[in-house]
Amino acid sequence: MSEKFDVIVIGAGPAGYVAAIRAAQNGLKAACIDEWKNYDGSLSYGGTCLNAGCIPSKAMLESSELVHRAHDEFAKHGIKVDGIEVDIATMQKRKAGIVKQLTGGIEALFKANKVIALQGHGKLLGPGKVEFTPHDGAQQTLESEHVVLAAGSVPVELGIAPFDGDRIVDSWGALEFTEVPARLGVIGAGVIGLELGSVWKRLGAEVVVIEAMPDFLFMADKQIAKEAQRHFKKQGLDIRLGARLTAAQAGDDGVTVRYEDGKGEQELVVDKLIVAVGRKPYSENLIGADIDLELDDRGFVVVDEECRTAVEGVWAVGDLVRGPMLAHKASEEGVMVADLIAGKVAEMNYNTIPSIIYTAPEIAWVGKTEEEVKESGRSYKVGTFSFAANGRAKALEQAAGLVKIIAAEDDDEILGVHICGPMAGELLAEAVLAMEFSASAEDIQRTIHGHPTLSEALHEAALAVDKQAIHAINR
Ligand code: FAD
Ligand code: NAD
Repeated sequence: MSEKFDVIVIGAGPAGYVAAIRAAQNGLKAACIDEWKNYDGSLSYGGTCLNAGCIPSKAMLESSELVHRAHDEFAKHGIKVDGIEVDIATMQKRKAGIVKQLTGGIEALFKANKVIALQGHGKLLGPGKVEFTPHDGAQQTLESEHVVLAAGSVPVELGIAPFDGDRIVDSWGALEFTEVPARLGVIGAGVIGLELGSVWKRLGAEVVVIEAMPDFLFMADKQIAKEAQRHFKKQGLDIRLGARLTAAQAGDDGVTVRYEDGKGEQELVVDKLIVAVGRKPYSENLIGADIDLELDDRGFVVVDEECRTAVEGVWAVGDLVRGPMLAHKASEEGVMVADLIAGKVAEMNYNTIPSIIYTAPEIAWVGKTEEEVKESGRSYKVGTFSFAANGRAKALEQAAGLVKIIAAEDDDEILGVHICGPMAGELLAEAVLAMEFSASAEDIQRTIHGHPTLSEALHEAALAVDKQAIHAINR
């Protein structure tokens, strides 16, 4: 390939494929290189998110939630179902079908937008130079005005609990189980631990989650974390806090897990162990030896606010760089960079990135937690509203959790919105938009919300900020 590109993107996850498509939409000649290989050896675009992360996990969360409802909720509706049978193979087939459709969709979008899609390994050789090694074929050097690094991340592996692809697995392995493990251990009560722990718990596994931190969901608003913890406990998720893993030994009969907590050495035997203790940026063989590209002490490519590296014409986006490891953050950085390359004005608002945990109830937030606002010294007011008083939530048989809005005392600006409850992730979109527009609590108070909808809980929480909720006693 002797032609010169305007933009070459390395990585076709949500950061990279979006950057390549937007670059092409901007009239730039774009190529996107990706090396993703599935367990069966097939190649596909979409990176972690589509193949092994966001999408397959949400498919399994939905299927397993239906199983839970069939067992626990149908009777309340007066629906009698005898002998519910779960067929994991069909569940997995459905999940794989969704993944295939969406990853195939990216290929179609590349074609439609005239992005040159290249499957194989990409390596930055220097400004404007990329080495491309196809999965089958000869290595070549490509030239491009700009290079966008979007190589993503991989799971952190613990030396004391190495992945063996069978008994001790990462999140991808845990999404591929062909049967429900009777006893499942999870290391890490973070986002993955809670989502995948929930999936297999609902499908019948006995789940024990070992978490090193003494506080549950330490990054979330404390009141919301406490509310969520109460629900998970009720569901039978056994979450052991302040528990530090010391060893995990896989054998024929399972995995022996040893950990230390406040009471001393503990031991646990499980059939499968998921290690979900975070992810790390992936830059293996991505950057040529002579390039002056800085990595920080955790391996992230160092970039400025606009995702520029110190090397002229080289940009980096997504999980490979600082900030939350989230698909939507990755994609928006991809869009910003493609627009900046095209000479447009573009920026990211890192203060309004939504966080969503897709458990039941869901946990979602944007902006600052109450603890962070307190720490900042700014005077604030808080309004909460419980889903127990929301008609739609009642009708859905999901009247659990609450909405919490934190607003500034002086000018009423919304500083943070935190939700634990049904469809919290969908409800949060209104709050993200409000904060993007620097809205006040009064703006939400005066916005008409449809009835009966879950969004009325957000409306009432905004009213409660000024002690004017209608369907609750204001304190
Ligand atoms: P990736 O998606 O990791 O993509 C990087 C791509 O680059 C890969 O295809 C990789 O093969 C390729 N690559 C790497 N190096 C090279 C190279 N040298 N040459 C060629 N190709 C290369 N986030 C959310 O926002 N919502 C969720 O619900 C959510 N759920 C998740 C569930 C799980 C189980 C996991 C593991 C993650 C989840 N995430 C979720 C996180 C999300 O998947 C990541 O934040 C997102 O995928 C990051 O996108 P990226 O494009 O930066 O990297
Ligand atoms: P995480 O950072 O969310 O959680 C890891 C947890 O493991 C933490 O609570 C940490 O204290 C704990 N931990 C670390 N070392 C430990 C040890 N030795 N023993 C016991 N506990 C230990 O990471 P994750 O759950 O692996 O997820 C990785 C990334 O993927 C996250 O950054 C997340 O943003 C992203 N993700 C997002 C979603 C979503 O948006 N819904 C879903 C899944 C993953």
